Amino acid sequence: MADYVVPFIIDGKEVRPSATFDVVSPSTGKLVHKCGVATKEHAKAAVDAASRALPAWRDVTPSKRRDYLLKTADIMERRRDELAGYLIDATGCTQDWADLNIDGSVDQIKDIAGRISSQSGAVPSLADPSLGAMILKEPFGVVFAMAPWNAPYILGVRSVCQPIAAGNTTVFKGSELSPAVFWAITSCFQEAGVPDGVINFLSTNPANAAEVTESLIADPAVRKVNFTGSTAVGRIIGRLCGQHLKPVVLELGGKAPAIVWEDANLDLAAEQCALGAFLFSGQICMSTERILVHKKVSAEFQQKFAATIDAIFPAGADAPVLINTNAVDKVKKLLDNAVSKGASVLAGDFNATETSKTRLRPVVITKVTPDMDIYQTESFGPSVSLIEIETEEEALRIANDTEYGLSSSVFTEDLRTGLRFAKGIESGAVHINNMTVHDEANLPHGGGKNSGYGRFNTTLGLDEWTKVKTITWRS
Ligand code: NAD
Repeated sequence: MADYVVPFIIDGKEVRPSATFDVVSPSTGKLVHKCGVATKEHAKAAVDAASRALPAWRDVTPSKRRDYLLKTADIMERRRDELAGYLIDATGCTQDWADLNIDGSVDQIKDIAGRISSQSGAVPSLADPSLGAMILKEPFGVVFAMAPWNAPYILGVRSVCQPIAAGNTTVFKGSELSPAVFWAITSCFQEAGVPDGVINFLSTNPANAAEVTESLIADPAVRKVNFTGSTAVGRIIGRLCGQHLKPVVLELGGKAPAIVWEDANLDLAAEQCALGAFLFSGQICMSTERILVHKKVSAEFQQKFAATIDAIFPAGADAPVLINTNAVDKVKKLLDNAVSKGASVLAGDFNATETSKTRLRPVVITKVTPDMDIYQTESFGPSVSLIEIETEEEALRIANDTEYGLSSSVFTEDLRTGLRFAKGIESGAVHINNMTVHDEANLPHGGGKNSGYGRFNTTLGLDEWTKVKTITWRS
């Protein structure tokens, strides 16, 4: 595979640019394959193909679109081993993470497929009884979709499946860190018979990303955009979309809090906080980054939490892999800064030498205060901060003392307390007695504040990709 170049798929055909970049495995350090570097010309060709495919795809009946999606889900199931391989090679993730990604994608496609034929408009009565009116839902046109590498099947599938389910066509730009995954998604839809040009996949290296992205957002044929990634790049995408007056769905970073209240089941809280913080090395937008634990139970929780982490990530095994050395360095820098300002390390040793520079074991720090960088900055790695709280007001104030608002948890045995917290927390989702990482087809996904706006999944997610047209008539 090392000399294999991941091609683009434009208008149903593989395109192999002469310029390529390397995709390197973070677990072996070896070249996995190469990928083509897209230019503005490729971007234009992809938009043109999507524009040509639009009139026919828009008119495909909802039941036929449903059938294409159901067939794609079956194909993903059948090609599961191949698909998992692309993800494991590019990100160093475990087989479990790959399975979760593929299961989540298949489920999402089936769920959206089942909703397509019930998308409908309205027939309101007007003030003048001689007038009739209809409100139609129509696709926008060409949608530009961008997805990241960390859960790339779920995030890549949702970025194109939901727009095409509603009758749009797409240009699909996948992260340079796992391009084969995005090629594979496009290939599954293609194998299911989705017509040429409905999904056009390309990728580019970081040096060309800004130019290619801007050319796509500026293209008059592109009518709506979605971007999943960091808040820093989301801001750039939002600015460009504002400048070109394109609506956009932004799914950005997070700094999820978990409140462990004084009456919590501490075994459950310890387990769910460990999974929420360290699943896939904390490289999930919904990862638990801050645990706000009640002073009365803090000592007992800390002891159980450390023991749970030891059990899940035993000392003898290789440390988990992160996406690259930059990701490890970022977490270590945040931890260094916190410790230099008075934080204590409860679990883990971020100065330990691991078998490669892309590996880092879970680290828990206590006595975290607002002057430390880690208090505000998304670590997007295997670190979590413990902060003690005493009152509901204090817990909510600290939980909300962040620019982000994506996900959160509350641990309490009293559902009334849980619901009070849930109402007060500023985030797109609150999970009571469950980890902050929770995404499934039957729940809307999205955030508020600087975690972005708009929703994927469910009927809300499907409606993001239609615009409304009013028709009236005199009878
Ligand atoms: P990133 O924002 O760093 O990169 C995303 C893409 O943007 C990359 O492909 C990159 O090449 C491109 N890019 C970089 N600079 C650009 C520019 N100036 N113009 C246009 N494109 C540019 O994010 P990432 O590392 O891929 O993903 C991690 C981030 O994504 C985390 O912050 C995480 O919380 C967030 N995320 C959010 C969700 C969600 O649903 N809210 C899901 C997964 C990840």
